[in-house]
Amino acid sequence: MYKATAGKPLAATITGSLPRPSWFVENLSGRPFLSAMAGDVRFREQYADAVAALIADQQRAGIDIVSDGEMRFDLDVGGRSWFGYQFDRMDGMERAEVRRGGAEWAARGGARRRTDTPGDILHEVAETRMPPLLTGRAGCGCLQYDAVWKTAQRLTDRPVKMGSCSAQMVDKLVVNKFYKDRRESVMALSDAMNEEHLRLADAGCAVIQVEEPCLHFVAGTDWEVSLDTYVEAFNREVRGLRAKTEVWCHTCWGNPLAQRVEAGYAYKPILPYLDRLDVDVLTFEAADSGGRELPEIAAAVSQDKKICIGVVSHRTLQVEQPSEVAALIRKALKHVRPERLLLSTDCGFGRQGMARIHAFYKMTSLVLGANIVRRELGLPEAPVRAAEDRFSFL
Ligand SMILES: [Zn+2]
Repeated sequence: MYKATAGKPLAATITGSLPRPSWFVENLSGRPFLSAMAGDVRFREQYADAVAALIADQQRAGIDIVSDGEMRFDLDVGGRSWFGYQFDRMDGMERAEVRRGGAEWAARGGARRRTDTPGDILHEVAETRMPPLLTGRAGCGCLQYDAVWKTAQRLTDRPVKMGSCSAQMVDKLVVNKFYKDRRESVMALSDAMNEEHLRLADAGCAVIQVEEPCLHFVAGTDWEVSLDTYVEAFNREVRGLRAKTEVWCHTCWGNPLAQRVEAGYAYKPILPYLDRLDVDVLTFEAADSGGRELPEIAAAVSQDKKICIGVVSHRTLQVEQPSEVAALIRKALKHVRPERLLLSTDCGFGRQGMARIHAFYKMTSLVLGANIVRRELGLPEAPVRAAEDRFSFL
């Protein structure tokens, strides 16, 4: 159900992750969140202050639906924590190690996989993924998303969007030693994540984002799980959730070390599958592609879903100007009504891709660009304190 974006055409958000403040040097390092918050005064203070600082940044930029910046993730290599937070805390997983085949990002066209090629940046990402063995019954363990979300939501009146790596992305990396096959393991992991999401919704989280189906990464490849099975698994992961809260499905073409993990990507082949997902909002990269697929996306997504597009890129340091953001939004509005259009970043800003200052000005441009279009449509503009003359030193 629409909660966070109800009655908010062109609402602005970010995908989730933000660069860490430089002084936040503590890590969970495998500990349960609540254990660290209860027993480690340095972690608790740095974590809580970092979340507060990043929410303040987003509010100063005028973001409507904020994120905790994913500060639960360690300062690790290549964004491992996006998977690793779950690897280290879910039931049934053990012994995370370097394993061949741990990452499955195949170069299209039969080329040697980039992840298997020393000298390629994605090889270093694959070396540090460290997937675990799945040796027992999958369970949500000590993910504690409700406590993570509460720590952020108690700092702000704006809705805090809580995102998480999907069960199927976790399944795609783990080495299954327990279930009969990958269909069984992906369903079991999806049921486990469903339990966690439901607990988060019951705690009051107004928007939950599942990141993301494997559909666009396996379409056209020889992979042992079918697209239909991934749709079924995703819908098990979000089962019952839309009755309680707003549910988003994020999609993108990769983030590790700000890299695009596939060349020549296209959403088109998987759009009918994405439309079968039981969610309120589907997100799409649009900044990196200049909105190339907007007509196809708009035609394929059912009217009961909203479409959220990335209007700034997580892969470049060049800060998009508000006029560029506005131009992309206008392009989308040729195909999607403003009531169904939401604005975000193509993916998270990550922990190694860019500095905090780049992320901050990209968020500011996002909202200033949105305000240009809101003005044209007669919609209320968001206050952007970062852009107010009266606070300038100059
Ligand atoms: Zn992404």
